[in-house]
Amino acid sequence: MGAEISKNQELAKLSFYGIGGVADEVWKIGDRESLRESWADTIAEKIPKFVLGSGSNCVFSDRGFRGRIFILTDESVEKRGNFWTINAGKKLQNLVEESAAAGFEDLKNLSGIPGTIGGAVRGNAGAFGCEICDAIAAVEFFDDAGNLKILKSGDCDWNYRSSIFKKNPDWCVARAVLRFEKIGDPEKISAEVKNLKNERWQKYPPGRSGGSFFKNPRSGTFSDTGEKFTAGKLLEKSGAKKDRIGAVEISEKHANFFLNLGNAKQDDLVALARKWKKIVAEKFGVELEPEIAIVDEWGGKVEI
Ligand SMILES: Cc1cc2nc3c(=O)[nH]c(=O)nc-3n(C[C@H](O)[C@H](O)[C@H](O)COP(=O)(O)OP(=O)(O)OC[C@H]3O[C@@H](n4cnc5c(N)ncnc54)[C@H](O)[C@@H]3O)c2cc1C
Repeated sequence: MGAEISKNQELAKLSFYGIGGVADEVWKIGDRESLRESWADTIAEKIPKFVLGSGSNCVFSDRGFRGRIFILTDESVEKRGNFWTINAGKKLQNLVEESAAAGFEDLKNLSGIPGTIGGAVRGNAGAFGCEICDAIAAVEFFDDAGNLKILKSGDCDWNYRSSIFKKNPDWCVARAVLRFEKIGDPEKISAEVKNLKNERWQKYPPGRSGGSFFKNPRSGTFSDTGEKFTAGKLLEKSGAKKDRIGAVEISEKHANFFLNLGNAKQDDLVALARKWKKIVAEKFGVELEPEIAIVDEWGGKVEI
């Protein structure tokens, strides 16, 4: 099948944030053999690379990308009873809905989270006390030499919004094997999945974003009553809502949503995030860390 290569693609059109200049090359790959070859060659040739899912959790540079953006287009699923093997390009929401219709409720609480399985595995996507890792039996990935490897879930180093795949940017998630264990009435689960999705999208602040900008701090209690504050609460209590740099504004509805008001630049987003990270650190002694992948033009990470 090979790769479908397009040159000089505007990255703003490929991410939820709507930010980003032109990428030298975008490689759409639908089969594993082509992925294996091109992944290993790209690394061996030291060409900057980035695997893009749905672009719901990343923000590109205004200077674009001087390398190859890989998009995995295989969305196929192999079903063997309660074991489903899912290709990385599959949309998480479609999987949540399909598994609900088959009478499995393991993924129910993830309903409404945008993105692909590849992105969800790498960042261990989660909501309402459920994380994708809870249903994962194993993950297949290509390593930096193009070898297809498999890791059992217990070896994936799952953590809050993190996994071994996040720590190894030269690995590309190819497939995930899920094991469903919670069985229920398909119609009831599907109705709940639909309601959760609607509720969630009503709660999200309107406007372009990559979801929550900062991760919630994992330790420390900060209020007089012993309440553990979320990143959004810390930002709100520091007075971040409605602050703006360029065309990036912190949402009035939720202080952990940094919105693109129109023609925002990555530099403005970074400046606003650095400003509020510093204020929160001074006020509460908490070092916020971004959840969103802030990508420079060489595929590196922009530090906040
Ligand atoms: C409105 C909104 C609400 C959100 N709510 C939630 C929420 O409740 N919970 C939650 O967890 N997340 C949430 N998110 C964040 C986002 O949806 C998840 O992080 C999602 O899993 C990202 O998937 P993606 O395919 O869009 O990844 P992308 O944004 O395309 O990529 C994110 C990172 O994953 C890497 N990646 C993608 N595919 C692969 C692969 N195959 N192999 C290796 N690395 C890969 C990319 O290189 C990048 O570093 C929200 C986002 C938005 C916009």
